[in-house]
Order: sequence, then C-alpha cells, then structure tokens
Amino acid sequence: MLSSKIKFNLLAWQVANKLISSYPDVCPFARKYQNSMLETELKPAHTDAARRTNAPGAPDLDFSPLPVSAPEAAPKYYHVATWGCQMNEEDSEQISLYLEELGYTAVGDYASADIVMLNTCSVRQKPEEKVWSELGRLRDLKLVKPDLIVGVCGCMAQSEYTEIQRRAPHVNLIVGTGNIAAIPEMIAQIKDADTGSPSSILTALPRKSSGNLVPLTSLTLPPRRGVIVSEIPARKTERAASLKAHVPIMYGCDKFCTFCIVPLTRGRERSRPTVDILAEIEGMARNGTKEVCLLGQTVNSYGKNLPEGRVPFARLLEEISQIRGIQRIRFTSPYPRDFTDELIETIAKLDKVCEQVHLPLQVADDELLAEMHRGYTVADFRTIVEKLRAQVSGIAISTDIMLGYPGETDDQYQNTMRFVEETQFDSAFMFAYSPRTNTKAALKTNQVPKPVKVDRLNRLVELQNSITISKNKAQIGNVVEVLVEGRSQKDDNRLSGYTRTLKMTHFTVPEGGTRSLDSLIGKTVPVFVEGANLTSFYGVLAEPMPYL
Ligand code: SF4
Repeated sequence: MLSSKIKFNLLAWQVANKLISSYPDVCPFARKYQNSMLETELKPAHTDAARRTNAPGAPDLDFSPLPVSAPEAAPKYYHVATWGCQMNEEDSEQISLYLEELGYTAVGDYASADIVMLNTCSVRQKPEEKVWSELGRLRDLKLVKPDLIVGVCGCMAQSEYTEIQRRAPHVNLIVGTGNIAAIPEMIAQIKDADTGSPSSILTALPRKSSGNLVPLTSLTLPPRRGVIVSEIPARKTERAASLKAHVPIMYGCDKFCTFCIVPLTRGRERSRPTVDILAEIEGMARNGTKEVCLLGQTVNSYGKNLPEGRVPFARLLEEISQIRGIQRIRFTSPYPRDFTDELIETIAKLDKVCEQVHLPLQVADDELLAEMHRGYTVADFRTIVEKLRAQVSGIAISTDIMLGYPGETDDQYQNTMRFVEETQFDSAFMFAYSPRTNTKAALKTNQVPKPVKVDRLNRLVELQNSITISKNKAQIGNVVEVLVEGRSQKDDNRLSGYTRTLKMTHFTVPEGGTRSLDSLIGKTVPVFVEGANLTSFYGVLAEPMPYL
C-alpha cells in the first residue's frame, strides 16, 4: 500500500499535469511544484519506474505501486445452521460457497464464528420454535461479540420477516429463498454501515427509534405463473468434489395444497433450463460425483415454460443417465398427480435410476384429499404404487403421512391406517398437522385437538415401524449393492453407505480379503445382508466379486 503522503503527492501531480496541459503559459508554479515533487517523495518510485520503462525522467512516469507486502488478514469464520428439507441443505451448501469465496472458513459453533446464518424451515411449527430459541442464544452472544453478523434465510425469512425484525433486532440480514446470491453484497453493505463508511446503503438501513438497525432484507419472488421462466435463483455451479450431490432442477410450487406454506415461501414453480442442469452434473461427474439426487418441491412437474419448450421429467432423466461417471440417479419429491406412465417406464428402463421412490400420500381418504386440494384419489395413488411395483423390480416406496388435518374424523384416520397396512410402504415420514400462517387450512375452525393428533400419530408410527422392520428383515440373506461413503461412524472397523433402495448399510470386510477398507471408499460393492433393524442393514462384503 502507498503511504497517504505519497497518495496525496500523486493526486497533486495529476492536478498539476492537468493545469499545465490546460494553461501552459499561466501555470509556471504548477510545473515548478511538479519538478519539486520529483526531488522528494516521488523520487524513489519514479526512478524505479523509469528504470523499468527505460524512460529516464519525467514526464513518462509509471506510478504502479512498488511491491509492498500486504498485512495478513485475520482469519474469518462462518457457521450455517440448517433445518428442513434437502432443498434447504442444498441452499446451505450454496451459502457456504458464497461465504468461502469471501474468505470465510466453516466452524462448528456460534461462538467462534464471525457470521452465523440460520437456514430455516416453515413447513411445521417445531423447527420454527427452534429458530426463535437459537435467535435468543445469538442475542446473548452478540452482547459479548457485537461485531457478529447474524442472518436468517430460508422459508421463515420469507414468511416471518416482519416478526423477525420486531422480535430479533440483533439480526443483520434476512435473505429470502431465491436471494442467496445477494448474501455477499449484503454482507459488504453491513460492514460499510458498521464502519460508518459513506455508503449508499446507509439509506437502506434506517435506524429505529431504539437505535437498532433494521436488518437488510432481500425477499423477491416471481409474481406470476405460466410465463417463460427467467427468474431462476442465481447459484454457484462449481461444486466441491463429493461422492453424492443434490441438484435442484426446479424451484417453488404451483399446487397450493391448503395446509402448505411452500408456495408462499418459495414462490411459483419454475424449472432450470436443461442445459444448465446437465452442465452442472457433467462438471460434478468430472470431479468424482457418482450419485445425484434431483430436487424439486414437485420434482416430476419439471420442464414447463422453459425457453426451449416443454421438457418432460422423464426426458431429463434420460439425458442425465447418459453422463459418464454418474452411476446413480435419485429424485425427490415427486407429486402423485404428475406421476405419468412414461415416468414409470423410464425408471424401469434406465439402469442408473435407483429403484426407490418417495411418493407423498398425506392421507388415504378421498374427502380429505379433496379438501387439501391434492388433486388425486386414493385409487389413483394405489394405481401408481401397483404400476411401480409391477414394472420396477425390488423398488422401495416411501411416503409422507400427515394426521390431524382440520376436521379429520376417526373414520378418516382409520382409512389412512388401513391403506398404510395394505400398501406396506418401506418407510414413512409421519407427522401431526400444525397450522401454518396464511394457509387456508389454518383458518378452519374444526382443528383437531392436540392430544387426539398425538395419539393418532403414535399409533401410525407404531404400525409403520413394524412394517419397516419386517421389510428390512426380509432382506437378510440377500446381496445388495452399496455405494461406499466411508468408515461407519459407530464402528471404525466397518464401512457404510446406501443401497440403491436408500437403506443405510454397515458392513465389514472379511479378514484376509483382498481389499483394504479405505480402498473401497467411493466404490459400489456387493454386501451380503446378515442383519437389519428399523433404519439399517448390517452385513459383510460379498467377496470375491468385481468392484465397479
Ligand atoms: S405440492 Fe403441496 S405440499 Fe408439496 S410443496 Fe407444493 S403445496 Fe406444499
């Protein structure tokens, strides 16, 4: 860095030059001043520059800065806490990429961080309550660490931003679901405001009467449906090397189920252009990624209103399956109404598409499904399951079930229980309905009392868990294909990874076998299943076999 004195002299030199060229006869003092400068502060720089340019003396001065070692920047740290779905996990990865580009390094706790981002979920009440409690902890931390930057992003940022401003004035930035790319600029603005530097953003940070800064917000979402898509959130596509990766292929939702806040927090459905998705996955495959999971709120509705025209989801799967290096393709979550025969045939046909589908049911009562605006009947759902099982050998089907929707009678609840028993899902996410602000269901006056919801949920969990355990145990004695992710967290002498049907599998390698444990990481290997419980398979590497 040049000293401020030298900077001043440079400026003076430029002013003198301007005066001389504009008024050569009337400004002798300017030339004199310029010459005197050559004798003083500027001389070392000038002589050095002159040597470099073979131009001794003024006026062809090269004022490029001399090599001066920059003071070492203090290390900066960030922490991102994530609640909710895979889409949020993927958003958190994007936030990390942006922060790392700014020079921040990840840390595992709030206390060591310079920036804490809470990536929130509004789908149910519990994660929202947790975020409020974390904001309380961060308020205490900010008392002893006032420079800490606290940000809230995700669905709660979108739906609760006025409440966050009111209840948590220590929050510096509130970032909506489509605005993650704005984080670096927002952080720069906050820093400018903190240091009192004359930045235009000061006008965007009005002080409340309490003296607290109003948090910066960035919350825009596309306003309309059915137009050619142009408002895809910006994202970083140079991903860190990883064996498995989530890839968002669409954003938002147009279904407007009456209980769900997602269309309000993530905006209208819009698909990413196919070429962008393929380019991102090709890049990841070159970096060693072997498994991709395509993400979307209704992932199989992909492909409407693209600039290149309609691209059915089944065609996107075909295109991705041609990418060299990608061995497994998953997707979540498909919507029953958009689950076409063409898609079922494509899953059956493409080797790389895993035999695993998560198909949200919610309830198995036609009256309730209609009230929820789900757009399918129990019979429709049953038909999809039957076709999948008939055409895709060994497919695992999981689901979402929500009990206690407003007005749910005991008979309607029993319909769901019977269907669960009949369908024998491999697993299920089960939860009790909780009213979400600004949704139609929240306004209903016939809310089911909490104890009733809890009781229904407990009985469902018991039923589904017994189904899951017996389906898992039925795999004992079979050989399954596992993509090895690393050493098992519970036992360092085992490896672990997922089957194609998304079952966590822990396995040993026989003593005297030809392979060391670590040499198998990143490979797909056959595992002989010796045991199973609710969540996992246990087994042993099935040697000798060829490893992919
Ligand atoms: S399909 Fe329904 S439940 Fe799923 S995100 Fe859209 S509105 Fe919500």
